[in-house]
Amino acid sequence: MTEEPVASDRPASLWAATAPPAPATVSLPPGEYRADVLVVGAGFTGLSAALAAAERGADVVLLEAAEIGSGGSGLNNGQVIPDLSRADPDEIVAARGADKGEALIALIRDSAQTTFDLIRRHGIACDAVQNGWLQPAHTPGRVTRISRPRFEQWRRRGAPVELLDAGQVAALTGSSYWHGGLRNASGGHVDPLALARGLARAAARAGVRLYTRSPAIGMERAGETWRVRTDAATVLAKRVVIATNAYGTNRVWPGLDRSWVPRRSYQMATAPLPEAVRRSILPTDAAMSDTHGDLYFCRFDRRGRLVTGGALIFDYDFEPRLKRRIGDRLALLFPQIGRPEFDYVWHGQLSMTADKLPHMHALAEGVITWVGCNGRGVALGIALGAVLADAALGIAPADLPLPFTTLGRVPAHALAARIAPWMMALFRWRDAQP
Ligand SMILES: Cc1cc2nc3c(=O)[nH]c(=O)nc-3n(C[C@H](O)[C@H](O)[C@H](O)COP(=O)(O)OP(=O)(O)OC[C@H]3O[C@@H](n4cnc5c(N)ncnc54)[C@H](O)[C@@H]3O)c2cc1C
Repeated sequence: MTEEPVASDRPASLWAATAPPAPATVSLPPGEYRADVLVVGAGFTGLSAALAAAERGADVVLLEAAEIGSGGSGLNNGQVIPDLSRADPDEIVAARGADKGEALIALIRDSAQTTFDLIRRHGIACDAVQNGWLQPAHTPGRVTRISRPRFEQWRRRGAPVELLDAGQVAALTGSSYWHGGLRNASGGHVDPLALARGLARAAARAGVRLYTRSPAIGMERAGETWRVRTDAATVLAKRVVIATNAYGTNRVWPGLDRSWVPRRSYQMATAPLPEAVRRSILPTDAAMSDTHGDLYFCRFDRRGRLVTGGALIFDYDFEPRLKRRIGDRLALLFPQIGRPEFDYVWHGQLSMTADKLPHMHALAEGVITWVGCNGRGVALGIALGAVLADAALGIAPADLPLPFTTLGRVPAHALAARIAPWMMALFRWRDAQP
């Protein structure tokens, strides 16, 4: 967690093979530069923040350590999901109070629509499919304890949700494995790397000066501004948005990487499935992630590959072990698939917070960030990027949907990071309970 990430550390994903090429970029040449807003990190958060700030007239520089979308944004499953992985609306209100809680809920409720609208507005070619997101329940108890209250709480807040019985879930998934569940019509899926690259193109068109292979390696106050250093250059900016999320290190801002715990998530893509099999699974082309703690999830890409994945407690030999484990899982869910061939296996890192909520921090005057995607950061990262742009351009904190808090530290961070993979054993035990 202390070395700057470089592209070669990142495993080759399906999306690296399918996304249109990235716009041409260079690393920041030696010299001293000035900007109104400096954004660090070219994932969904940083790109959305840079684009929004530039569209509002700010002069923006964006520094990316590796390549556009080479963090979580280009490595994920591409599910556009308008909720949090754990906390339901009532819990958000309990944690954040009525005003801020409801403001965050509204942001999350609208985040998938915001994402698809942004894609349309900028004409981004990223195989965007807005055919809904499904959350099937893997036991009857989960229908009662998760699907129903989640449905009620989101419906009360105007989200386009439906409660589904077992038959409806079977029709929408092509599997009789689940017992009921939830559908949110505003969700869907994208090629996430194509989306990141498309956002970068849109940001560049809006005037953002975007530099790749330019890690920020430190920053200090210089009068009214911040002086942010790369190996070769400095950028002076009044406002700095740190959008490094789960790929952040403690060099840009000491302690930032102690405010969350990293967790690895594995992604896999099958070979293209025969048309008849393809049409029998997720026939409406929805995205799906269910109620297991050891999450069952999948969606199709445009070539009929099922894009899925899973988690492991130990990382050794991950490729053959995952092919066996997830192959068995798919055969259980969709017997018509037989033993699938996997063409791609890759992984990425998530930022987990102790309370499973996203946190927006004011690190110092003019320096802001958010952490804590907890596995849901496609729509949320894009929505929060625009909020960070608002904050950087002077919108009063009282008018933002998240409070700015001071940087927290996960208690016993080193131990928590070590224990994190073992949580999967607990999740699997819980998953087996009715
Ligand atoms: C395997 C996986 C699957 C997931 N699946 C889903 C999903 O299906 N749906 C969903 O909603 N969410 C999913 N997520 C979560 C989601 O991908 C992330 O929350 C989201 O992409 C985070 O975006 P971001 O821009 O905040 O961070 P990132 O995309 O991680 O971007 C951070 C960037 O900062 C750069 N950086 C780091 N340090 C520096 C530095 N010093 N200087 C300059 N740049 C720096 C990094 O190189 C990186 O490009 C998944 C995550 C993973 C890892």
